[in-house]
Amino acid sequence: MRASRVAAGYGARVAIAESGRFGGTCVNVGCIPKKLFSYAAHFREDFGIAASFGWTASEPRFDWPVLLANKDREIARLNGVYERLLVNAGVTIHRGRATVRDPHAVEVDGKTSTARHILVATGAWPRLPAIPGSEHAITSNDAFFLEQLPQRALVVGGGYIAVEFASIFNGLGVATTLAYRGARLLRGFDAELGTRLAAEMAKKGVDIRLQANPARIANDHHVTFEDGVRERFDLVMFATGRVPNTKGLGLEQAGVRLAADGAVVVDPYSSSSVDSIWAIGDVTNRLNLTPVATAEGMWLARTLFHGEPTPVDHENVPTAVFGNPNLSCVGLSEETARERFGAVEIYKTSFRALKDSLSASEERTFMKLVVDAASQRVVGAHMIGPDAGEIIQGIAIAVKLGATKAQFDATIGIHPTAAEEFVTLRERVA
Ligand SMILES: Cc1cc2nc3c(=O)[nH]c(=O)nc-3n(C[C@H](O)[C@H](O)[C@H](O)COP(=O)(O)OP(=O)(O)OC[C@H]3O[C@@H](n4cnc5c(N)ncnc54)[C@H](O)[C@@H]3O)c2cc1C
Repeated sequence: MRASRVAAGYGARVAIAESGRFGGTCVNVGCIPKKLFSYAAHFREDFGIAASFGWTASEPRFDWPVLLANKDREIARLNGVYERLLVNAGVTIHRGRATVRDPHAVEVDGKTSTARHILVATGAWPRLPAIPGSEHAITSNDAFFLEQLPQRALVVGGGYIAVEFASIFNGLGVATTLAYRGARLLRGFDAELGTRLAAEMAKKGVDIRLQANPARIANDHHVTFEDGVRERFDLVMFATGRVPNTKGLGLEQAGVRLAADGAVVVDPYSSSSVDSIWAIGDVTNRLNLTPVATAEGMWLARTLFHGEPTPVDHENVPTAVFGNPNLSCVGLSEETARERFGAVEIYKTSFRALKDSLSASEERTFMKLVVDAASQRVVGAHMIGPDAGEIIQGIAIAVKLGATKAQFDATIGIHPTAAEEFVTLRERVA
């Protein structure tokens, strides 16, 4: 979408092929409906906290079909917005599944079009583990369209999609188990975050089982775990990774090199091994986030049609996990910073948010700064707590610009907020 529109804006003649709905994974079965569900799930606690501020209301009741219908209406609206954006930009739309026929030809529904450049931006698809009965489980693609909420759900995985859906189900009143084969949630994030997040989610009622992995699933959703434990759930959801969408696309026949996982292998300019074929977004399996995919699209349009060769920049990309509580970070984990710089300084804090102080909520907000000892630059910022995603976006600008700890400290905080802690962290803990 973004590459098409920006390229057309630079004067290129552009056609787009789409086999699904406009907006891709993010709009239809990713970020947007997920965040709507996440808002819905958070209300359970908000009702509880409201009581501590003196509010009384009748016993809250949750109606899943209402949420589903409202979500579907909003997504349909966005599909229309996206299509109109393309039409207004002068992009020709081909509806249907595209296959690459040769380095300059693409076929959609038996009709072949030729082009100087072909851009592959076909995204990724959930991967189910190869265990007996995995066909009885759902993936995130299905979770957005469940006819009814289960009473007991098992979410399998330790990445952000698993964490987010476990929090959503739990918040909506489903007895939720999160099983992950690893020893810590959120591999690749700062190690402390995964451990702390698991503890916070457990406080809220999610049954977190680490080093637990299903071995098979019966058709009545009895799950047998690798350690022999057998248990029945009403719904099993796998969030166990995603594979780049290149199967049957004709790329290998056209000479495009694919990695072992099927990702299109690209150089920093998103060029594949075939000069006229380019690839961006999840299909390249670099940094699988929507704003990264759209930025890659804009950089490529600039490279091809604006005379300004622009390599991708994946440094200091902020990210958030919209579980309950929220989690976010930018820059390096403590572990990676130690590997890269040797000496690092660590500042952190953990506290109860003011909004929770009148209630029985046990939730603790956590913040951490990682500083390169030699340059004194803040190279990592991490947070668990309300609005973590909103807060880290501003911090990301400072980290991207290479701000030092002293510059963080010279910034006046906004009181009383949680965010002010990022500029008042004085005590070094390591
Ligand atoms: C549950 C979930 C939650 C997520 N939450 C977030 C989040 O909160 N924040 C965030 O930044 N990222 C999030 N992501 C990741 C984000 O959705 C992806 O990084 C982003 O959508 C990648 O964009 P893309 O353009 O590469 O691919 P996609 O958005 O997957 O788009 C690919 C498009 O290509 C079409 N297509 C595929 N094959 C063909 C073909 N042969 N012919 C024609 N059309 C084809 C598909 O229909 C699709 O529309 C989430 C993902 C999931 C699954």
